[in-house]
Amino acid sequence: FANLAMQSCKHNGRHNFLFYTPNMNQYHDHQISIEGDLREAITRNELQLYYQPKVNVETGYISGMEALVRWNHPEKGFISPGEFIPIAEETGLITQLDEWVLNEACRQNQQWMEAGYAAERVAVNVSANEIQRTDFAEKVNRVLQETCLDPQFLEIEVTENSVMQNTDQCIRTMQDLKTLGVSLSIDDFGTGYSSLSYLRKFPIHYLKIDQTFIKGVLHDPSDSEIVKVMIQLADAFKLEVVAEGVENAEVLQFLQENHCAYYQGYYFSKPLPPEEMEKLLTKKQTYS
Ligand code: C2E
Ligand code: MG
Ligand code: MG
Ligand code: MG
Repeated sequence: FANLAMQSCKHNGRHNFLFYTPNMNQYHDHQISIEGDLREAITRNELQLYYQPKVNVETGYISGMEALVRWNHPEKGFISPGEFIPIAEETGLITQLDEWVLNEACRQNQQWMEAGYAAERVAVNVSANEIQRTDFAEKVNRVLQETCLDPQFLEIEVTENSVMQNTDQCIRTMQDLKTLGVSLSIDDFGTGYSSLSYLRKFPIHYLKIDQTFIKGVLHDPSDSEIVKVMIQLADAFKLEVVAEGVENAEVLQFLQENHCAYYQGYYFSKPLPPEEMEKLLTKKQTYS
């Protein structure tokens, strides 16, 4: 449908949307123009990956990084993933987008290792549509082969909500990924309707607590209790916890006191372009 709409928009002008109110019309025009531009952006390499460090709460050392897609539109400027990822998902463009991201993250990580940086794991976000495809693990395997990245240096993040649909297929795909040696995280945990005991069915390694809970730990007693319980339960299920959205020292201290393993957030670093991320990576010792 979106394709048809785009064509009619191009050839006949905007007034041909007979059944739409003006507001919906505008929304649609906006969505359609973003869709067309995004299609081109993927093929023209207008997308870029930024990297946000994952940090060990206890030692303060970097323990990995998350790749986050950025789009610098030639006319509209910076468009946030919160805006274009949903459009990519609705239109099916997400398959190409996520594949581009996967490939670029693996390529960059392998390049860092070849340049002599100590190996870190890179995490890639994958949409519901992708994790539910029967050929997803195969695709990941192919990208790993093509980029020469060792599977242990790749992690896949899927949101709690995206594994709630087609659960059996998701579990199969995740099992295949685990067999490959890829790590798995549940992202935005706490925002969906699952429970930790339910998630036990999934072969996952990490649980990322959504930033809405983390932001509240200092002033909202129910948030701090929820986070404490999540950490304890995750521990009982042998999952490691990553706290998202840590913005200050007080929240980090709360995580230390409650034995959360890892964190991400502006307090340590915002997502960085590759050349900035590179400065945070450790050079391996070389002997001559
Ligand atoms: P996410 O995977 O949960 O990523 C975390 C988001 O929180 C990122 O937003 C990050 O920049 C932001 N963030 C990190 N630390 C802090 C903090 O301390 N404070 C605040 N306020 N925000 C923080 P971003 O990059 O805008 O991405 C938003 C969402 O878009 C991501 O949520 C993810 O669901 C999706 N996304 C991003 N890149 C990709 C991608 O390559 N593929 C897919 N399918 N989705 C992506
Ligand atoms: Mg994520
Ligand atoms: Mg998240
Ligand atoms: Mg999120």
